[in-house]
Amino acid sequence: MRLKICHLYPDVLNLYGDNGNIICLRERLRRRGIDCELQRVPIGEKADLSNADLVFIGGGQDFEQEVLLQDLRGGKAAELRAAIEDGVCVLAICGGYQMLGAYYETHDGTRCDFIGALDLYTVGSPQRMIGNTVFQCTEECGGAELIGFENHSGKTRLGSGLKPLARVVVGHGNNGEDGFEGAHYKNVFGSYSHGPLLPKNPAFCDLLLRTALERRFGSVSLEALDDRAENAAHDAMRRRLLKS
Ligand code: GLN
Repeated sequence: MRLKICHLYPDVLNLYGDNGNIICLRERLRRRGIDCELQRVPIGEKADLSNADLVFIGGGQDFEQEVLLQDLRGGKAAELRAAIEDGVCVLAICGGYQMLGAYYETHDGTRCDFIGALDLYTVGSPQRMIGNTVFQCTEECGGAELIGFENHSGKTRLGSGLKPLARVVVGHGNNGEDGFEGAHYKNVFGSYSHGPLLPKNPAFCDLLLRTALERRFGSVSLEALDDRAENAAHDAMRRRLLKS
C-alpha cells in the first residue's frame, strides 16, 4: 500500500508549525510499514490533485492569502473543487480552511474570492482570536477531543447544510459566537487549529489516514501504535486549559 499526500503551498501557508502535520502523517504511515509519496506543490507549480489521496493545506496571514489568489484562479481552484467532490481527503488549517469557502473579506474591506468548495464564508473582525484550544469532534468526525492553537481575526460562518468539525470547549473556533469549530464536508476536514494539530491528536491523524486509505484500497485496519508521548502532550495541555 502506498498513500499519496499532496502538500499544497508549503512555501506560503505554514504558520505555527503547520508543516509538522505532514511529518506526523508520514511517521504514522512509516511505523505501520505503509509507503508514502509526498508531493510538495509551491505557488506557481502544477499539482495533480486528481491523483492525490490526501491533500494538506496550512494557514497563512491575510497577505499570503491574497498572494495566492492568482495561482488559484490559474487552475488549482477548479482542480481542488473536483478532488473534493471526488472524495479526496483534505485537511485544511485556518487560512487554508478559509480558502475552501466562498470568500474572505478582511477587516479593512479587501475581498478575496476563494474556491467555493465548501458552503462557508469569512469576514475579518477587529478582534483577534488567539490561544490554546480544546475542541470536541462530532461523532461523524470521530468524536475525539482535539488540542490546538488558534490565531485568526476572520469569523467563519457555515451555510445551513454544512456541518461543523467540532464543538468548542475552550477557545473561539469558527467565530467565537456559535460554539462551533471547523467544518466537515465529504472527506474534507477544515479547522482553525494550528499547533501543529496532528501530533497532539493521534486519533484524529489516524481518522484522516484511514479515510484516505479506505477510499483508495477498501477496508483497512490500522495497527495500534504506542501513543504515550503524544497522549502525554495532549493531556498536559488539556489539564492546563481545563484546570483538571
Ligand atoms: N488571515 C486569516 C485570519 O487572520 C488566517 C490566519 C491564519 O491562518 N492563522 O483570519
